[in-house]
Amino acid sequence: MASFDEIFVPLPAFRTAICREYRTAVTARSIAPHVNPYHGHLAARTRRCIVEEALALHGNGMLAADIHDIRFPDNAIPAIDSLPDWSDRKRCVQCGYIRRTRQDRRKVVRERASSR
Ligand SMILES: [Zn+2]
Repeated sequence: MASFDEIFVPLPAFRTAICREYRTAVTARSIAPHVNPYHGHLAARTRRCIVEEALALHGNGMLAADIHDIRFPDNAIPAIDSLPDWSDRKRCVQCGYIRRTRQDRRKVVRERASSR
């Protein structure tokens, strides 16, 4: 029978755990809504045990109640002073390039289309 630790990597310092398969973070609130649909191949009893293990971790302060309770890492690498922090950039879902302007994004699409 699969245990919590087999499905998740516990990160008690951050009060969360990461699903080994889907690479998403879970909390006490999200554990059942995650395990039941995404790990539905596990027996119902196994899923219940995993949820109970998660709730016990929550009881011990090792798993956040919800996303607001997760302890995120400190910003260890501060942004470089005087470099702009663009808030208008968009990432192309096709090529993954991050571009700021509509013209730049169109240019990428044209370049990709002409290189085919
Ligand atoms: Zn999962």
